[in-house]
Amino acid sequence: AATVSENMLRGDRGVREEAAVTNVSYFSRSLSLARPELPLLLLSFLLLALYCASSLALPNFQGLIIDKVVPDDAGEYDEAGFRFYVKIYLAVMLTQGALSTVYQAAFSLVSRRMVFHVRNTLFRKILWQDVAFFDGTESGHLISRLTNDVNMMMQPIQTSLSSLLSNTLMLAGGVAMCFYNSYRLSMLAFVTVGPIMYLWDLYANWSKQLNRRMLSAWAEGNSVASQSLSHIRTVKAFGTEEREIGTYSEANKEALRAGVRDAWGNGLTSALTNYLDLGTGVLILFYGGLLVMDGKMSVGRLVTFQLFWNMMNNAYQNLQGLVTSFTRSAAGAEKVFSLWDSAPDIDPSVGNGVDWDVEGGIELKNVKYFYQMRPDNLVLDGINLKIPAGKTVALVGRSGGGKTTIVNMLLRFYDPKEGTISLDSFPYESLKVHELRRQFGVVSQDTELFAKTIAENIAYGLDPSEYTMEDVHEAARRAQAHDFIMEMKDGYSTRVGERGGRISGGQRQRIAIARVFLRKPKIILLDEATSALDENSQQAVQDALNTLIKECNATVVLVAHRLSTVMNAHKIAVIEKGKVAEQGSHDDLVRLGGIYAKLVEKTNKKKENALNQA
Ligand code: ADP
Ligand code: MG
Repeated sequence: AATVSENMLRGDRGVREEAAVTNVSYFSRSLSLARPELPLLLLSFLLLALYCASSLALPNFQGLIIDKVVPDDAGEYDEAGFRFYVKIYLAVMLTQGALSTVYQAAFSLVSRRMVFHVRNTLFRKILWQDVAFFDGTESGHLISRLTNDVNMMMQPIQTSLSSLLSNTLMLAGGVAMCFYNSYRLSMLAFVTVGPIMYLWDLYANWSKQLNRRMLSAWAEGNSVASQSLSHIRTVKAFGTEEREIGTYSEANKEALRAGVRDAWGNGLTSALTNYLDLGTGVLILFYGGLLVMDGKMSVGRLVTFQLFWNMMNNAYQNLQGLVTSFTRSAAGAEKVFSLWDSAPDIDPSVGNGVDWDVEGGIELKNVKYFYQMRPDNLVLDGINLKIPAGKTVALVGRSGGGKTTIVNMLLRFYDPKEGTISLDSFPYESLKVHELRRQFGVVSQDTELFAKTIAENIAYGLDPSEYTMEDVHEAARRAQAHDFIMEMKDGYSTRVGERGGRISGGQRQRIAIARVFLRKPKIILLDEATSALDENSQQAVQDALNTLIKECNATVVLVAHRLSTVMNAHKIAVIEKGKVAEQGSHDDLVRLGGIYAKLVEKTNKKKENALNQA
């Protein structure tokens, strides 16, 4: 029966073999990214081969030149031949220099274009992920994927694509020449290759673990940095600068620790393999010496063998370094490829176009939903709701009841776990998600603008051919934004800063409303568009919203807490604990005497007009 330690050994080998397989597959997969660059890559290989050939040719011409000035039997010099070969030598030398410049440039062009391609593809993969993906992933980590992880994955390809080829050639040639010169010495010398390879392999896999840890630590650091930068006002207000710096440095310290260990591991492996290497040199000398004394080998041959052994050893060590750096880079590659391979559940390419004359009627049938991050919390528990085309439906109810979640479902940010949603009786899944979302205009509680100009923010997402500057002004005028925009020094070219931080909340909301006016969508979603505002700006935004609802002739779903806004809706739905508790017109519901009636009573009493705070 196998002992425990034998089992452990076997298990360990199993894991290590598996690791080797994945390393090789990451390696070849990273290399396969060079496929689009194949023509250029082949050209660079050709240039490299020519360079090698001209390097090998040069010593021959040197020999020929010398031969021409050595007098022949008749004591004659071949001066013409001498001059000729000097010219040839110069020509080959110049060609060789030019070739080396061009092939190096070509290789670096290939690797740069690969990095460019990897970054772009990865950013595309990230942006097309489902909204649910972003609920569970911090943006700092994603930035790290695009930067640190890609760098680590591509680093060996970038620095050593060309030496991979030249060293492989040199290794093959060197091994062949060693065996050709003395198979006995070769057999002896190559015995040490095994342990050296094993040691480097051991180190490389360990290093991969460390680099994995390093990348995670960097990602964590990026996440800390991006969060404290995007909430810099909160950090300042709470005076937590030092604490944030501490958290950031803690993450980086973890990376430092892993890096230091990696350096020690590298040094130790180098030292050990160096001993093995030097030991082999001594062994060759010793055994070679014995062979020479036995008359089985000439001194010249021993010297030649040693020269080729060194040549081969050099190439081999360079290749070993390459393999090690590739193994290490697998730590980056596995992160990059796992994102590369993750396809969104809501496939943007699936479905039919929205090519009919959209009326904008929506129906939710028995919709159930829980967020992936909190599966125990059934947020929507069988929502049945008809939103008739061209009508206004108000959602009211206590905070946390699921109103925003319904708005998210209408935009197909998430697919229901059960039940269906349809637009003009076409099920959502049958439609191209992009075209579906284009039917909507949204104003939510916090509008975060892009760090662009006001005009660019209003026209965001539209093609320049789809609107004129006059349209933008008109939209802003209707959204009651034109006046405050014109009061700014740069007018529509005013840059609003990150997240629109340079303008007030009320102004941001009116820009969001101008966006909707410019797009004229069939369906408008208003999720507590005024609730984050003070009394004064609330009035301006409310006026703009009223104009929007009246003029756009669209289906409107509005989540509001102002009784005056809700009252006029065609239908009011009270959302309680993920269910439609009551629905009907204002008068219906007041007559019913249920939750809505109580809310109205309470708000009237408090004279605050705030429904969902009751
Ligand atoms: P409302 O808009 O009516 O105030 P929401 O739809 O925002 O309610 O939230 C409903 C429930 O879903 C709440 O319990 C909330 O904590 C939870 N929730 C909202 N968004 C998420 C999310 N992204 N991940 C997990 N739970 C969420
Ligand atoms: Mg909400």
